[in-house]
Amino acid sequence: MPAFTDFNVDSLAELLAAEGYRPAHAQAILSLFHGQCGMIDLDKMSIPKPLRTLLRERIAERRSRVLLRNASRDGTVKLLVGLQSGGAVESVLMPTVVRSERAAGCVSSQIGCAMGCDFCASTKNGFERNLDAGEIVEQVLHLGKEASDSQRRLATIVFMGMGEPMLNLPNVMEAIRRISDRRTPGISRRSITVSTVGIVTGIDTLADSGLNVHLAVSLHAPDDATRAKIIPMNRRWDVASIVEATHRYQGITGRVPVIEYTMLDGLNDTEDQAHLLVKILGGMRAHINLIPYNSIGPGVSGAVYQAPPMERMEKFLQILRDAKFSAHFRVTRGDDVNAACGQLRLSVLS
Ligand code: SF4
Repeated sequence: MPAFTDFNVDSLAELLAAEGYRPAHAQAILSLFHGQCGMIDLDKMSIPKPLRTLLRERIAERRSRVLLRNASRDGTVKLLVGLQSGGAVESVLMPTVVRSERAAGCVSSQIGCAMGCDFCASTKNGFERNLDAGEIVEQVLHLGKEASDSQRRLATIVFMGMGEPMLNLPNVMEAIRRISDRRTPGISRRSITVSTVGIVTGIDTLADSGLNVHLAVSLHAPDDATRAKIIPMNRRWDVASIVEATHRYQGITGRVPVIEYTMLDGLNDTEDQAHLLVKILGGMRAHINLIPYNSIGPGVSGAVYQAPPMERMEKFLQILRDAKFSAHFRVTRGDDVNAACGQLRLSVLS
């Protein structure tokens, strides 16, 4: 049976109309549903009684439930969300440091990941399946409930959890349409970021979709030889083609991209590599996030990584800033519950 998360206002209106009810009820029903983080008390709605019965018989409240909740000492909360269609994914809520009434959510787009990035736990057991749009929306609602329970508002969403969003783009885009639909409570597209390891065709499709969400590109190295050691997908799309696609995305959407760069000791952390990163990005307006590596044990290749010494990372950062890039270290959040970047799925595996 489908759940309310499997509908948008138009498809629910169609179902209601086909059953002889006013399509206008659809917006009221989904507004209540999304406004209450995925809970709906049909008895409190002023809708015809037979419609209530029909909704109960035909549409479930949810197709997922929170199986585990892990709270970090820094306020980050990781949820293990069990899916009725099989499997489980992790979703993370990170309270915003500067504005305590807000929180950011990180959602998964696939169970597992086929990309094989050597510093990431999500890929260690390979790829299981794509999530459908409703399963992605349900993660957002679980995170919204978690935020509201701590008197916060879920204000931003990043697609940086398990999986490569660009390889499940139709479902990711439909989920974005549902959570950002102006007819129901949700999240502005200005506050949504889709991350990719560099699937060029996906970047172009998202650029042309009109969704105008933010793009984060996981570059992690400025040259192909280094990047290919840690990201197998670099054999399909090299650094130059990814940077070109990022330029195109910025040109079409006007959004300033985020360049993600996980710092690995002795691999991608030299001053020469910082200068090369500046060179390949050219005059691009971009935010660069340097992410000190979060430990996951041996990677897919068996290699064990560690974060570079702080002094070296600071030098790297300074070179980027001297070149007038907006560059920052990403604050490590939730690493004590394996909720930090690259660590998702670690607790499921262990
Ligand atoms: S970093 Fe992203 S694309 Fe790479 S393996 Fe992990 S989840 Fe997949």
